[in-house]
Amino acid sequence: MSITANKPEPLLYEQSNPGSIGYALPESDVPHTPLPAHLMRADLNLPEVAEVDVVRHFTRLSQKNYCVDLGIYPLGSCTMKYNPKMNEDAIQLTGMSQVHPMQPPETAQGVMQLMYELQEYLGEISGLPAVTLQPAAGAQGELVGILVIRAYHLKRGDTGRSEVLIPDSAHGTNPATSAMAGYRVVEVKSDARGNMDLDDLRSKVSDKTAAIMFTNPNTLGLFEEHVREVNKIVHDAGGLVYGDGANLNAIIGIARPGDLGFDVIHSNLHKTFSVPHGGGGPGSGPVMARPDLAEFLPTPIVSKKGDVYAFETPTNTIGRIKSFWGNFLALVRAYTYIRSYGKEHLREIAEISVLNANYLLALVRDVYDPQVPERTCKHEFVLNGTRFKKEYGVNTLDVAKRIIDYGFYPPTIYFPLIVPECLMIEPTETQSKASLDEFAAALLKIAEEARTDPQLLHNAPHNTPVTRLDDVKAAREPVLNYKPPQIPDQRKAA
Ligand SMILES: *Cc1c(COP(=O)(O)O)cnc(C)c1O
Repeated sequence: MSITANKPEPLLYEQSNPGSIGYALPESDVPHTPLPAHLMRADLNLPEVAEVDVVRHFTRLSQKNYCVDLGIYPLGSCTMKYNPKMNEDAIQLTGMSQVHPMQPPETAQGVMQLMYELQEYLGEISGLPAVTLQPAAGAQGELVGILVIRAYHLKRGDTGRSEVLIPDSAHGTNPATSAMAGYRVVEVKSDARGNMDLDDLRSKVSDKTAAIMFTNPNTLGLFEEHVREVNKIVHDAGGLVYGDGANLNAIIGIARPGDLGFDVIHSNLHKTFSVPHGGGGPGSGPVMARPDLAEFLPTPIVSKKGDVYAFETPTNTIGRIKSFWGNFLALVRAYTYIRSYGKEHLREIAEISVLNANYLLALVRDVYDPQVPERTCKHEFVLNGTRFKKEYGVNTLDVAKRIIDYGFYPPTIYFPLIVPECLMIEPTETQSKASLDEFAAALLKIAEEARTDPQLLHNAPHNTPVTRLDDVKAAREPVLNYKPPQIPDQRKAA
């Protein structure tokens, strides 16, 4: 092998070197018995790699990755806030990490107290005191919430309700959830101020309406100005109101969904409550509901009688939706996060996240086009890239890819679906002013490049080991396991 200075870092995924040994089993201390021939396979062709090379391989890969511990991760709707390390200290306590889900409850009172108190906190934060910690994700929380609403109508003998109303700005999981629960989805239009169009809503609500399902602030980052009226229109028609509270950042400690007329919401502990996510979880999406809906919640719920905690099954439960106690360590992290703020300070999450989003918007709004320029945003904002496309031939994907060259993770793009060429930016409360300034400076520089050198954006990113990927192929035909090249095995040949 020849050594050259400054050679580009190789992207070598294939590290196998026949004869290398990564792990040596200890000497056997039992009599040697040959394995049955039918269990012996030569065709597995496992990689042969020394321990140090395995470590270097994965360290090299990890250094090509981007994470919240490196910098701003402004994915709108996803809330990629910093995950305090104190949460990780808490889950590493042996009482948390070593407790077994099948232990008798009398030996697990401490963790049951934690779950009970978390139920209480989430009930208080949301204004909806009947709480289940079971759902493993926001989408699963939605399904639980809609099944609870369905059970409520059916128990009252109200069997004609077959529709769920959903605004056109909704997260894709909302219509998917409703369809999975057997409902027809009826779309409600948004108006020019980014609110639900009340006339459109009135024309679609009926005695077939089981529920309306919406996010507030919505996915445009705007508070629904007619929230009470929307909820009254649906309640007057006998429907219930489901709030998608995946992200409560903008309102936590300031407004409670229960007080605004919502009957059921879920919230993502892995968004609002600083549980790490991305890469597939494990998440947690507790559901909070009105007291009279408690009887339908999934089992088990943690209850308290005197000083004793117990698992209970609600009388008309929709059943079990997750094994054991849900994603328990996500619960411990969220509990730690809530306790580290304390009741008086939780509202600072909302204050700073909204301030940060409006500050960032103010820095870029003369150059990029806010979707609803006349309104201040909540915890996130949406830019419309139509003018960039028309004037410079640069689309939002090009802008997002160029952001990578400046060392930042790009925002959410092409969602919500009602905004063409959109960029959806959520800085979160955990960014300093300096990091917001740096990110804004990059956005402004990129806008300048779009004007003067659009080709630079079309070919971006330039500074990464791989450039534009075929996202569709990656999603449709993922390669999920190691497929070794067919290197002839020297030893077999010998
Ligand atoms: C993230 C999100 C969801 C889905 O949550 P998952 O945990 O990814 O299933 C639903 N609604 C909104 C508004 C979200 O931002």
